[in-house]
Order: sequence, then C-alpha cells, then structure tokens
Amino acid sequence: MNSQEKLDAIFRRIANEYGKLNEKQVAFAIREIGRVRNDVAALLAEFVADDGTIKKQRLMRLLRELEQLERSMRQYGEQALNKTINESAEFAIEQANAAVKTVVGTTLIKSGIERLNRNVVEYVATRFSDDGLVLSDRIWNVSGEIRDAIASQLRADIIKGESVSTMVRNIRRIYENETWMIRRLVITEGNTAYRTANAMSIERSEVADWVRIVENGSRHPRHQQHRCYELAQENRYGQGRGIFKPTDTEIYSPHPQCSAFIVPVLKDEYL
Ligand SMILES: [Zn+2]
Repeated sequence: MNSQEKLDAIFRRIANEYGKLNEKQVAFAIREIGRVRNDVAALLAEFVADDGTIKKQRLMRLLRELEQLERSMRQYGEQALNKTINESAEFAIEQANAAVKTVVGTTLIKSGIERLNRNVVEYVATRFSDDGLVLSDRIWNVSGEIRDAIASQLRADIIKGESVSTMVRNIRRIYENETWMIRRLVITEGNTAYRTANAMSIERSEVADWVRIVENGSRHPRHQQHRCYELAQENRYGQGRGIFKPTDTEIYSPHPQCSAFIVPVLKDEYL
C-alpha cells in the first residue's frame, strides 16, 4: 500500500466512526427537542378540571399557549444542532490531523484550528439548501410541524372529552411519529459539517491541493441516482474521478442525509 492508499483506508474508518457519533447526535437531538412532551404535560396540568378532562371552553387558550412551547422547541433544536455541528467539525479536524500525521509524519494543518472550526460552523449555519432555506428556517419548520401535530391531537382529544392522562400518552405517540424529521436534519447537517471541516482543512494544508469525494451509501437501493455518486464518477479537472478543488462547495453537501466523505489527495512529494 502506498501512502495515499493508507490514508484512504484510515479516512474510511474515521468516516465510519463519525457515522456512529452522528447516530448519538440524532438520539440527543430527539431527546432534547422531546423535552416539549414534558412542557405539554405541565401545561395540561394547569388546565385540567376536577373530572380529569379539559373543558372545551378552554381549548382556544390552551392552543395559544402552545405557541410559547413552539418557541422553546426551536431553542432546544437550535442548541442540539449547534452542538452537532461543532462536535462534527471538531471530530473531523482532529481525526484528519491524526491520520495525516500517521501516514506522512506531519499534521494536515498546523495552526488556526479554532478559527477553522468557527468558519465551518458559520458555513453550515448560513448555507442555503435546495429548498432555499437556511438552518434556522429548517429548525423552525420542524418545530412548527411538531407543534401542529400536537395541537390537532389535543384539539381532537379535548373535544372528545379524553382525560389528561390519555392526552399525555397521545402526545408521546405523536412525537414518536415526527422524530424522522429531526433525524433527517441532524444527519444532513452533521455530515455537511464533517465534510466542510475536511475540505476547509485541506484547503489550508501543505500536504494536498486536491480532494477526492468518496461516496459512502452503496446500501441505498437508489444510490446510483444520488448526487454524490455522480460527483464521485466525474473527472472534472482531468485529475481523476471524484477529484475536486477543496473550495468546490457543491461537494460539501451533495444531497440530504448524504454520508459521502472527503479525502486529501497527497502531493507527489508525500507519496
Ligand atoms: Zn450521498
């Protein structure tokens, strides 16, 4: 194995480890945003009548109170996503540095790690996705949809005269049905931060001028239609398949939930 092949193998292993970290980030975000379930339970306790139900006359006021809960949910979501992005960038930078040190004897970047980390976080937070939205908009959308789902369940339950304990149970079930949106968001943004951190590190590095995108979702049934697959096949600069400039931002986030990763292409003198 030459140095490039060694490096490729280590980057693949690190990408798999990142996949495990990202799963934990998904679970954390679902738990954090899920604090809204307790908030709803506390709210219902304020509205409950002596017979354990909520009077229909109080329905409108209760639904207005849910707007405050939506604001809390956005806050939980923003905190969880910020943590995801920071952690992913830090993990990518640290691990890439260690991998390059192992193979060529010098780290990928020598200084400015904190600034690099800030640049990655800023890029991910301000990037426009295909739907024309930035990250905070997407968090607002998810919070709004969860709020709407909770509101229609509560409305139906109050009109039916269900007990508060049944309502709390129903809210938990409703939340479980909506967690896929949180999952999609954390996988997309975490992986984008991970790739962006790698590309920006390589851009600042002495050891490589080019990067290679490696597609990593071959188990997906329609994987060959994914943008990352096309990018990995493309020989845009005559440098080889999947080889791009580290500043080509289209490789930072080829499509939602993409787990493709980016590898430095070592300069000849490091091979
Ligand atoms: Zn992909």
